[in-house]
Amino acid sequence: MSFTQNKLAVITGAADGIGWATAQCLELDGWDIALLDMNKELATHRASSLGPRHSAWECDVTQPEQVKECILGIKAKYGHIDALVNNAGIGDQTLPTLEQDIQAFDRVLSVHLKGAFLMSQQVLSVMNQQPRDPKGVRGSIVNIGSIASFGGIPGRNAYCAAKAGVLGITRAMASEWARRGIRINAVAPGYVKTALVAKLAQQGALNESAINLRTPMGRMAEPSEVGQVIAFLVSSSASYVTGAVLPVDGGWMALGAPDSAMGPIETA
Ligand code: NDP
Repeated sequence: MSFTQNKLAVITGAADGIGWATAQCLELDGWDIALLDMNKELATHRASSLGPRHSAWECDVTQPEQVKECILGIKAKYGHIDALVNNAGIGDQTLPTLEQDIQAFDRVLSVHLKGAFLMSQQVLSVMNQQPRDPKGVRGSIVNIGSIASFGGIPGRNAYCAAKAGVLGITRAMASEWARRGIRINAVAPGYVKTALVAKLAQQGALNESAINLRTPMGRMAEPSEVGQVIAFLVSSSASYVTGAVLPVDGGWMALGAPDSAMGPIETA
C-alpha cells in the first residue's frame, strides 16, 4: 500500500481523551495518523478502528531512545511527517505542597515538558528535510497548554509549571523554526471531559459543578471540541499562524469577575 498521498500526523497520548478525539478529527479531514501511546493495545485498537492507513506505536515520550526509534519507524513507513501533536499528559499529585513527592513532581515535568521537547526534536529533523508547500510550510506542531499555563491551581505545582513551560517551548521553537517553514502553536484547553479529569473528580480534587459555574459557557468541553481546533491549527487554513496560543476554554481566561456576575447557567 502506498502512504504517499495523504498528510501524516503523529499524535502522542493518542489512545484516549483529547489525543484520540484529535485523531478522529484529523482522519475526517483526510489525514493518516500515527497513534503513539504507552498503552499499545488500546492504541492498536484505535488505529484499526480508523482504518488500514493508520498505525499504532508504543512510545513513552519521556524515553529518548523510544522516541527516536518510533519517529524513525514512522518516517520509514510513511516517508514524511506533516504534523505533530504533543498531547501525552498526566495529572498532578493531589497533595498539599509540604507533602509532595519529588519523584511525582519530576514525572509530571518529564511527561509534559521533556516529552514535548524530545518528540519535537526528532520530528523537526524530519520536517526540516521535506519540501515546502505553496505557502512555504514544511510542517507544523501543536502543543497542549492549559488554563494552568496562565493561572495557578493550588497544590498543582508541577502541572502548572509544566503547562507554563509548554508555552515557553512553543514560543521559543516557533521563533527558531518560522524561517524554515515549520509552524508551532499551542492550544490552552479549559476543563475537558476525559479520563484525566474523571480521575481527579474521583480523588475529590475536582468539583464539576463548581467548574461549570466558573466557566462562562457553563460546561466542560467535549474532547472533540479541542480536537477540532488542533485540526485547524495543523491545516493549511492556519498557514500564517505560528507562536500562537489559542484558548479552548469556554471563556474561562476571559472572565475577570466572580462567578455570580454571570447569572445562572441556562439549561434550555
Ligand atoms: P487522558 O488521560 O484522557 O489521555 C492521555 C493519554 O496520554 C493516555 O492515553 C495516556 O496513557 C497517555 N500518556 C500518558 N503518559 C504518557 C507518556 N509518557 N507517553 C505516551 N503517552 C502517555 O488525558 P487528556 O486527554 O485529558 O489530556 C491530554 C492532554 O491535554 C494532556 O497534556 C493534558 O494535560 C491536557 N489537558 C487536559 C485537560 C482536561 O481537562 N482533560 C485540560 C487542559 C489540558 P495512559 O492512560 O496509559 O496513562
